[in-house]
Amino acid sequence: MSAPLPFEAAIPRRPLAVMAALPQELGDLVAAMRAEGGIETVTHGKRDYHVGTVHGAPCVVTLARVGKVAAAATASALIHAFDVEAVVFTGVAGGVGPTVRIGDIVVAESLMQHDMDASPLFPRFEVPLLGMSRFDADAPLTTALAAACEHFIDEEGAALSQRFLTEALPTVHRGLIISGDQFVASATSVDLLRAALPDALAVEMEGAAIAQVCYEYGVPCAIVRTISDTADAHAPVSFVSFLTEIAGTYSSGILRRFLAARG
Ligand code: SAH
Repeated sequence: MSAPLPFEAAIPRRPLAVMAALPQELGDLVAAMRAEGGIETVTHGKRDYHVGTVHGAPCVVTLARVGKVAAAATASALIHAFDVEAVVFTGVAGGVGPTVRIGDIVVAESLMQHDMDASPLFPRFEVPLLGMSRFDADAPLTTALAAACEHFIDEEGAALSQRFLTEALPTVHRGLIISGDQFVASATSVDLLRAALPDALAVEMEGAAIAQVCYEYGVPCAIVRTISDTADAHAPVSFVSFLTEIAGTYSSGILRRFLAARG
């Protein structure tokens, strides 16, 4: 390896954005940042952006709150006000794919808005005037995130399934995540989504909005979702208990491994 050029040392590393919708989805990230040398908190557009280092990686950590507008506004602020190098989103989602179970992890390879429909003017799901319906997550970032998920399951999966009282170890899936401004909570609604988008693995309310903003600004993004429910009539109860009891363990365990590998 060649020696770094003298001016390289003077260029500060751009931070990574880590975002979630709800506080439980960030796990111990803000506490870990505080313990690691302090936090500078900047408030912008009614959101707190925590700037510091986590597991050796410079980060800006924030909560978007729920829905596509909140997610897009937050991603945009991360890009403009904090000049982030890339955006990573962590959170929970409803399982849609036939093999996706509660406690599994889905890492997005692409994302789309399942409630975008300007037909007959434009094809269903296409974002008008952009000519696209699917937005790719960044491949290297997604591979690194999926590797962190696999390590997490290898090391903590058995203990997690015991807590869930499930026999099988959680599985890491990669593929399509769909987003819309609805909490999907009925067999009819989830069946309609399956019929319209047969390769969808998970449904949530933010990912595709972040992917679109990142695409438009040329900023890499990656999205990881732990399955809290199966988007059917049990979803409200399953979602709340998963979010309060277990979502933080997943986010902390995945992000610790992902950030340490970058840092
Ligand atoms: N503020 C409320 C509502 C959260 S809405 C609360 O805390 O109870 C559900 C959140 O989890 C969204 O951010 C969404 O991205 C994700 N999610 C989990 N299961 C989902 C489902 N079945 N349908 C849509 N979004 C889901």
